[in-house]
Amino acid sequence: MEWLTIGAFSKACRLSPKALRLYDELDLLRPARVDPNTGYRYYAAGQLEQARLVAWLRRLGMPLARIREVCALGPSAAAEEIRAYWTRVEAETAQRRDLAEFLIDHMTAGPRKDPTMLELRHSAHSDPGRVRPRNQDTAYAGSRLLAVADGFGPRGAPASSAAVEALRFLDTEELPAGNVLNLLDEAVRGATEAVQDAAGDPAQDAGTTLTALLWTGSRLALVHIGDSRAYLLRDGGLFRITDDHTLVQSLIDEGRLTPEEADSHPQRSLLLKALGTTAPDLRLHETRPGDRYLLCSDGLTSVVPEARIRRLLASGPDPDEAVRTLIAAANDAGGPDNVSCAVADVVETAT
Ligand code: MG
Repeated sequence: MEWLTIGAFSKACRLSPKALRLYDELDLLRPARVDPNTGYRYYAAGQLEQARLVAWLRRLGMPLARIREVCALGPSAAAEEIRAYWTRVEAETAQRRDLAEFLIDHMTAGPRKDPTMLELRHSAHSDPGRVRPRNQDTAYAGSRLLAVADGFGPRGAPASSAAVEALRFLDTEELPAGNVLNLLDEAVRGATEAVQDAAGDPAQDAGTTLTALLWTGSRLALVHIGDSRAYLLRDGGLFRITDDHTLVQSLIDEGRLTPEEADSHPQRSLLLKALGTTAPDLRLHETRPGDRYLLCSDGLTSVVPEARIRRLLASGPDPDEAVRTLIAAANDAGGPDNVSCAVADVVETAT
């Protein structure tokens, strides 16, 4: 057996002696032999390949705990893990990019050049569905604010209503110009606290999703966490503008599940994020006259396919009618869950 000193091994695998000592402590890469008298670490030449893999994975930015998992796998399973890790990094980077765009937009937004005044026509309704004894959803629509929250757990109903209630001041208060980001951040913090109070004992695991749009006069600011959704109907096309924070969506993102498989996955409603667990997604949307926005709980999207949602949303002459037909469609499909919809049209202000 050929023993390499830590210095020689370090040179060969391009990991510093300091890193090697750390990886030894973390049980990530143990030396083949430690001299009982001097404490010197010695490595076997056969360990070089693993050390180089660790070095590469560090360059990729992979956390040490995950590297340890990858190193314990065979080559094809390890490749699968690296692929999944990288897909996740890209998804997280995309979210940070959205936040960066939001900030850039927020800091450079001047007065609108287009003199057209826009406003929202809106409607919202929440229905218990055909199966559930109670309605734990809350839906709201006003001239500035649209919100849908889907409560879960034994105190889900007060949780969802507290979240929406805590945002309602945004609908009436004069919005400070150019300060939408801080305002929203504060509002979400208030909603989070209100939900924690309403949800009661944390051990009971009650909480809520929250998807809300705030009208700023020309743009819509979006706050989103959980598996309720926001859609935009523009020029006849339906675009989903939120990501589901669910286990199945993360499996789809990592390429471990197809969207078709997700539809019948036993844990398809398992949430990874809810209000209070982590910061919600924030986004700013440019609007155009003629845009129609839909916020809905999963009681709609779990039983009505998107193609049908698009048709129904496009055919409703006004927001009231659109909300009514969408909820009826969910109930016609069995109504297994509470279903909530909020719809708003961006229209030119009548002068
Ligand atoms: Mg639901």
